[in-house]
Amino acid sequence: MEFEVGNTTLELIQGDITDVEADAIVNAVNSTLLGGSGVDGAIHRKGGPRILEECKRIRATEWPDGLPTGKAVITSGGNLKARYVIHTVGPVWLGGFHVEAELLKQAYRNTLKLAVSKGLKTVAFPSISTGAYGYPIEEASRIAIGTVKAFLEKEDRLERVIFVLFSERDFEVYLKAAKT
Ligand code: ADP
Repeated sequence: MEFEVGNTTLELIQGDITDVEADAIVNAVNSTLLGGSGVDGAIHRKGGPRILEECKRIRATEWPDGLPTGKAVITSGGNLKARYVIHTVGPVWLGGFHVEAELLKQAYRNTLKLAVSKGLKTVAFPSISTGAYGYPIEEASRIAIGTVKAFLEKEDRLERVIFVLFSERDFEVYLKAAKT
């Protein structure tokens, strides 16, 4: 399903983000940047060891104490079809009283800003924070879609932003958020 937002196409698909051909796919990581489960595990498995090596270098040089929640960094795409991977840390859901919404917005916004600053044209997101981090997906989908739309209304350098939802249910939830 596609929507036009300013100059950019916003697309929602169901699938595996490691199969997506885009300038960058987005990885939902933990602060260590040293690998995890879920989408992070899938990206490192298919992308090969180079991505992890670059993450380790970023840890050693830029973020010795770990990447803070809401921030984003970029590595190559290793063996993936995507040229780059943008790694961002979403918030752990703690009941909604701990600025989770603001931090989730920052994760999407900082990822998009980084993509634009690198001259990338196509970016694919997973559903950040709604797996191991437990963010309720209806709320997360509204924040994800709303934040991306608001960004694209002011920024016309991206050609396509894709949400890649892993399950059919997740896809339906995001579709509903995109239509309202
Ligand atoms: P977080 O810790 O931010 O919650 P997870 O990786 O646990 O990150 O989950 C984030 C979302 O990514 C979940 O909706 C999960 O179903 C989804 N996911 C897991 N593997 C893939 C994949 N290969 N492609 C796309 N989405 C995936």
